[in-house]
Amino acid sequence: MPEEKMIRARLTEMCGADCVQQDVPMSEHTTFRTGGSADFFVTPKDKDEIVSLLRYLRQSGTEHLILGRGSNLLVGDNGYRGVVVDTRTALGDIEIEEDIVSAGAGAVLGAVAGMAAEASLAGMEFASGIPGSIGGAVFMNAGAYGGEMAQIVSTVELMNADGELVDVKGSDMGFSYRMSRAQKEDLPVISVKLKLRKGKRDEILNKIRDLGEQRLAKQPLEYPSAGSTFKRPEGYFAGKLISDAGLSGLSIGGAMVSPKHNGFIINTGNARSKEILDLIHEVQDKVKETSGVDLIPEVRIIGEF
Ligand SMILES: Cc1cc2nc3c(=O)[nH]c(=O)nc-3n(C[C@H](O)[C@H](O)[C@H](O)COP(=O)(O)OP(=O)(O)OC[C@H]3O[C@@H](n4cnc5c(N)ncnc54)[C@H](O)[C@@H]3O)c2cc1C
Repeated sequence: MPEEKMIRARLTEMCGADCVQQDVPMSEHTTFRTGGSADFFVTPKDKDEIVSLLRYLRQSGTEHLILGRGSNLLVGDNGYRGVVVDTRTALGDIEIEEDIVSAGAGAVLGAVAGMAAEASLAGMEFASGIPGSIGGAVFMNAGAYGGEMAQIVSTVELMNADGELVDVKGSDMGFSYRMSRAQKEDLPVISVKLKLRKGKRDEILNKIRDLGEQRLAKQPLEYPSAGSTFKRPEGYFAGKLISDAGLSGLSIGGAMVSPKHNGFIINTGNARSKEILDLIHEVQDKVKETSGVDLIPEVRIIGEF
């Protein structure tokens, strides 16, 4: 049997025919709204299914990508030669007990923050406007407005290199700026427990509203993007370096350095991933020339361009 048919048969056996799709445009699953087709796109139905699938993909050495909400991904126009594993259905649960919030990795971060606020739990307001999954947020140690996941994660259920599920304390997650042990060691995040603190519901909701308004005022949320394109270089702000290099509004095809927030590259309508990538390189070169600083993409660049 040719390899493609064999993989399809195996995926179907594990997750059912209705959960396995082929040639799925990643532009439908990334906030940049760009990217060619993934060879396979699998949406397991529950935790057991996704855990078995990930174990199989890892142990068989099958190329795969764990997808949260696609809000930090630039996938090449010629697509992805592997299996995309969608976490949204299988790992979407959120539960609250006292001051502990438990969520499957695929749960939407904003929904977790909203439920925590309704339960009068404070500490994750910073995360409410980050449009990722909680698994993606742990993987990236996402942060904003002085907060980051490292501050609130109590334990993370990871799949280790042997395919076993292990509970890892937040303090053992190797968190640093936009970095985690899951990222360093390429380990799937299955679920997350956050430890928050009792607060006043209205104050928490007001803070979430204020931060949302700040985002709306400063970020080009009316255009597809993946948020800040580059990591913050130590001692600098990427947006300021880009602005000082005179690159505000610079465009390649449909990709543009947002004039509203120079740290964002936006898709003005019909951008191709290659145009976004070329613009990333152009910005890196010009900033290096003018300030000597190396900008490192925060966005994960995946697939064939
Ligand atoms: C408008 C906008 C604003 C943003 N603002 C912020 C911000 O303020 N702060 C910030 O930090 N980021 C921000 N981002 C970027 C992005 O939302 C975060 O990086 C987020 O954490 C990515 O989560 P995701 O679920 O979308 O991950 P994806 O984009 O789906 O994946 C990103 C990476 O994480 C991996 N991954 C995802 N889930 C798992 C899992 N369960 N196990 C293992 N690996 C996994 C993927 O394989 C991939 O390598 C913004 C993005 C946008 C579009």
